[in-house]
Amino acid sequence: MFDPVSVMFHCGGCHFCGEQGSLGFYLCNDQQTLIILCDECNTVYTAPEKIEQGIYSYLGSPPDYLIEGLDVSVVGGRDATRDEIKAAGWLHYIQGRLAYNGRRLWSTAAF
Ligand SMILES: [Zn+2]
Repeated sequence: MFDPVSVMFHCGGCHFCGEQGSLGFYLCNDQQTLIILCDECNTVYTAPEKIEQGIYSYLGSPPDYLIEGLDVSVVGGRDATRDEIKAAGWLHYIQGRLAYNGRRLWSTAAF
């Protein structure tokens, strides 16, 4: 069995974990709230501007994984599409995208 390939748009490396992870755009379980989630250390930013400001949020405990300060969860969410990122007004923050299916398959700066 192979996991389906997902494509994650991201806005660069995560400063919090020494850029081991990428900061991906993620749609939460309410299907409305966009966040930025590190695919390595699960640090959450509620807006791209908060990255520069260094204002991050914690991901809550299992099984709910509620985001600190927001009443939404990453459980049942998914990677945001380019259109969803555009609708949030964050299109110019996209720095690249990467594909994965449990492990990283490819990554490109182009979109
Ligand atoms: Zn990180």
